[in-house]
Order: sequence, then C-alpha cells, then structure tokens
Amino acid sequence: MEKTKIGKRFEGKVAIVTASTQGIGFSIAERLGLEGASVVVSSRKQVCLFVCLLLMLYKNVDEAVENLKAKGIEAIGIVCHVSNAQQRKNLIDKTVQKYGKIDVVVSNAAANPSVDVILETKESVLDKLWDINVKASILLLQDAAPHMKKGSSVVLISSVAGYQPHKSMAMYGVTKTALLGLTKALAAEMGPDTRVNCIAPGFVPTNFANFITSNDDLRKTIEDNTVLNRLGTTDDMAAATAFLACDDASYITGETLVVAGGMPSRL
Ligand code: NAP
Repeated sequence: MEKTKIGKRFEGKVAIVTASTQGIGFSIAERLGLEGASVVVSSRKQVCLFVCLLLMLYKNVDEAVENLKAKGIEAIGIVCHVSNAQQRKNLIDKTVQKYGKIDVVVSNAAANPSVDVILETKESVLDKLWDINVKASILLLQDAAPHMKKGSSVVLISSVAGYQPHKSMAMYGVTKTALLGLTKALAAEMGPDTRVNCIAPGFVPTNFANFITSNDDLRKTIEDNTVLNRLGTTDDMAAATAFLACDDASYITGETLVVAGGMPSRL
C-alpha cells in the first residue's frame, strides 16, 4: 500500500517499539507514526557508527528519530539495550514523562548469536538467547504494565521459526516458540484492559537475516518455500503489527499472526 494512503488508527496514541532503529522495528515505528501515534524508538546505540571493515551503516537512535521526524512523525529516541534493567526502566519513565501514558508496546528485540545445534550450544549462548529473546520482553512489560490502561495493546515479535525451528537456528527458534506461549499467558494476565498478540514473520532481508537472505541459493530456496514466491518486507511486518495493535483487532487477543507468504507453519 502507498504510505500516503494508510489510515490514522493511532491518533492520540503513544507507542514504544524496542529495537526500532532499523529493520522490522523501524518500519513498525514508522507505520504507527504515519498512522498518528507518537512513537518512542530505541536500540543500543545512540550515535552513528560506520563499520568500515564491513562497509555497513549501523543505524541508531538519533538517526531513526531524524528519519521519522522528516516524515512528520512525532518521535523521541531513547537508548535501551533490552537486557539492561536501568535502560528498560528509563525507556518507560521517559515515555511517561514526555507523553503521560503508554498505549502500545511492541517487543521486537532478539539475538541469534550462534548457528550451533542445540546440544552443542554453550551455556552462555543459551543464557543470552533466553535473556534477550524472552526474559527482556517480560521484564519490559512488568515496567510498562502499570502505565497501560483500558484499550492498550502489546505485540510480541516471534518468527515462523518458532513453529518449525530449523537446525541452523534451532535454539533461536525455540525461544520464538516460547513467545507463542508467552502471548497466550500474558493475554490472560493483562486482559481485559490490555490485548496481547504476536506476529511470526517469515524471512525478511534485514541485517539480522543477511547471513541467509544474501545467499542466492538459500534465498531462492526460501522463496520457493513460500506460496507468494517472495521474501517478506519490513512493511509487510509493520502492516500486520499495526493491525493487531489497533482497535480493528479489538476482539483479538492471545493470537499469533503468521506473516510468511504462506510458508509452512501450522494448521
Ligand atoms: P535488524 O534489521 O537487524 O534490526 C535490529 C534492530 O535491533 C536494530 O535497530 C538494533 O539496533 C536493535 N537491537 C539489536 N539488539 C538489541 C538489543 N539487545 N536491545 C535493543 N535493541 C537491539 O533485525 P530484524 O530482522 O528487523 O529483526 C527484528 C525482529 O524480527 C527480531 O525479533 C527477529 O527475531 C524477528 N524476525 C526477523 C526475521 C527476518 O527474517 N529478518 C524473521 C523472523 C523474525 P542497535 O544495533 O543500535 O542496538
């Protein structure tokens, strides 16, 4: 959909999106902002760093805010490594100080630090996967929940790998499976005032998935494994997240929407 043609479903709303200075998180922040939300973007890095060796531009909080503001979006940026308790608290406190409330939380951060099979994955890696991919969402919502009133909503970002963990990213997939259960459990706990839903993206060419999607053979295999014959886009994920977060989905909670072009997931 052309970005000029999207609606205004988040007017007067305040949305926090974690890990939102690039990739899927940035597109979600952009979509919610274009639809009228005041958005709070965050990630680990405040300033812009060129990593010359890799010739990669690591986008960051300041740049993301500038990009959003250039599109007429009301936005602030706060550094938040999701596994840092002080930074999580600061993210919530600064949002409430600035905007007085929180209507939407999108918990998007994840790590995939290893391609080892599960039985060869180091304990430190298992801990990191649990900390960032699962525990941080819970702890962030513990801080955010007191500020979330009737009509608010949460969207967790899982993965199609949560349904069928692939060998090369099996433990990552298992943490994403955990988010499917977390969605059900939190929906029961936070309802009826706050809805909790989840999206399970297929493959989207971002830095995170670059090691897969930049390989022509792998990319083709993935495309062939979809019904729609293509990878997903960050805008596809943003559109699905915006739907679940807004009042159009006001009778939907505890659900996961697979956004994977028809890749095998579940019945
Ligand atoms: P991405 O393009 O690599 O973006 C990652 C973002 O997260 C950046 O803004 C990064 O900024 C930030 N970040 C990384 N670690 C963080 C941390 N510990 N705390 C806070 N911010 C952090 O990644 P993506 O592909 O959009 O992935 C977003 C989500 O989608 C993840 O949950 C991932 O599991 C899920 N997903 C992705 C795909 C895919 O194919 N891309 C498929 C299924 C699910 P800084 O470097 O400044 O921190």
